[in-house]
Amino acid sequence: MQNWSSSSLAGSDSDLLRELTELFETNTPALLERARAMAAGKKQILSAPCILDGSCQADPPCRHCKWQSLGEGRPESFAKKSIEAAVAHAVKIEGEGIGRLFLASGWKGYDLPADYYNFVRAIRAAVGMEIFGLFGAVNRSSLAQLKAAGMDGYLCGLESPDEDAYRTFRPAGDTLLSRIQTVRDCRDVGLKIWTGFLYGFGETEAGVKRALLFFKELDIDSLSILPFEPFPNTEMEAHDPPNLYRWSRIVAIAKIFLRDVNVFTSFGAHNMAAYGRSAGANGFYVVVPPDSANGQAIPLRADLARAKERASAAGAPAVSR
Ligand code: SF4
Repeated sequence: MQNWSSSSLAGSDSDLLRELTELFETNTPALLERARAMAAGKKQILSAPCILDGSCQADPPCRHCKWQSLGEGRPESFAKKSIEAAVAHAVKIEGEGIGRLFLASGWKGYDLPADYYNFVRAIRAAVGMEIFGLFGAVNRSSLAQLKAAGMDGYLCGLESPDEDAYRTFRPAGDTLLSRIQTVRDCRDVGLKIWTGFLYGFGETEAGVKRALLFFKELDIDSLSILPFEPFPNTEMEAHDPPNLYRWSRIVAIAKIFLRDVNVFTSFGAHNMAAYGRSAGANGFYVVVPPDSANGQAIPLRADLARAKERASAAGAPAVSR
């Protein structure tokens, strides 16, 4: 396992570190404008989750766990799906024009349950869209079997690039170092890498730089730097969410530094899609429920079309479809 110290950037490529430092010293409007210009013409990607099994082995659970909060109101959405139900959900998601599916579950340990590969094989046979996995840190053998079953990529965020911050919200379950190793292993087994971290957990500037240098080294496909959002009935429900303008500044720095990466933001709460677009996002998380027609894909498309019209009326670069 590599040494990962957020307080030390020793050994980093000096040119890349200088570039990052200059970006951190640049004012926010200039960063946002540059990031948006880089995203102009980049294909938009809509990505929707299919939750295979919402139960999780992290004990105690993470102090910010969104699923713990949402699952209390909708336990059926987080119960383990049958393969038939997962395939039906995937087909529905593809039918809404979504280009990327991510299969998700709570953390099941470093060795994935054997039936996960059957889920991937069955869904692969039924849909043509990209398939990513989101199962937390897993070992290389599990990643290789996901790839062999037909998975295209794997989404494993670092959660926080700072070890101390990481343990403040995740007292059990997988570790930061195991997540770093998982991301490295994705590259080694040939899975596309989708990674990032959560913003607003007390991460340091050095930690953010360390993470961005790591992502640059691995030439990642997709990036999600999402702002912390408090959820009711979690231990962190009283914590303040971060300011989204300051969040978008970090997203813009990452976009400029990582160049061709697909940058993802959420659609829905607190104008995150609009803030994300202003920082160069071309990827959007949407929810397509398995059991109703009230998904987010249709309103998101209308929102994106309006943004494109406004940008073209103003002569500004727009993210193309
Ligand atoms: S790993 Fe943490 S955040 Fe993820 S489902 Fe488990 S308890 Fe929730």
